[in-house]
Amino acid sequence: MDLGLKGRWALVCAASKGLGRGCAEALVGEGVNVVITARGEAELFTAAAQLRALNPGVDVRTVAGDIATPEGRAAALAACPQVDILVNNAGGPPPGDFREWEREQWLAALDANMLAPIALIKATVDAMAARGFGRVVNITSGAVKAPIDTLGLSNGARSGLTGFVAGVARQPRLAGANVTINNLLPGAFDTDRLRKNMAGAAAKSAMPLDELVARRRAAIPAQRFGTAAEFGAICAMLCSAHAGYLTGQNILLDGGSYPGTF
Ligand code: NAP
Repeated sequence: MDLGLKGRWALVCAASKGLGRGCAEALVGEGVNVVITARGEAELFTAAAQLRALNPGVDVRTVAGDIATPEGRAAALAACPQVDILVNNAGGPPPGDFREWEREQWLAALDANMLAPIALIKATVDAMAARGFGRVVNITSGAVKAPIDTLGLSNGARSGLTGFVAGVARQPRLAGANVTINNLLPGAFDTDRLRKNMAGAAAKSAMPLDELVARRRAAIPAQRFGTAAEFGAICAMLCSAHAGYLTGQNILLDGGSYPGTF
């Protein structure tokens, strides 16, 4: 199916690797011009070169900066001629025990995983509505539905974003103007973040890393971790011209891990 996205512009935040990169690849594959961001320049430029190779017909622009800051967001928005598609993403907060977290850690998590996406939504959706097309995909986490004890900063900040999106996505001036806002909730995906978290967990336990990884994989009904490419494909589907009636949803991509019926 042609997703009907050729020639659109997407701002894909935090996309030099991992899930953001998977989304950028899928969109570029559909003929979408992209602005990708990340803090580290070297990996960002490598990612951009690979995206250009994937589809030489599209414009790929890079903005190095922290999307959790007003300056980082301003630079990203300035590089995108118009934002038809916004993929909100940033690094996840570190795991830990809530007894160790002070206001500073909470504010950092809120900035990156709640307030940054809200600020970018605020900056883009009314212009999308005026043009009659807009797609916002927020990368959140399966932890929004099934909280993970040690990821309390993530559980809290992302739940705040989820509550905000549930309301704003249903505004008739957005939903009625073909602007959709949805959240994609990853379970376990094979990215640097997952590998780092598992190495950290192994270091704190008596279990060797290999065994911990094998157990984690075996606990997933799909018996494997997800790939950034399949995450990106679902993101592109949500952004498709055909998905205008799908809004305000939280879509789990977790290989069947969430145990509930609804
Ligand atoms: P990843 O492999 O570590 O990639 C993170 C990407 O985001 C990198 O390109 C990184 O580049 C960029 N980035 C991080 N913080 C940034 C910031 N403040 N401003 C701009 N760019 C930033 O992580 P991932 O696994 O793709 O995870 C993406 C999101 O999904 C995270 O919020 C994570 O918590 C969430 N998630 C992931 C999983 C999973 O299994 N992978 C599961 C649930 C939730 P720089 O470091 O150079 O900035």
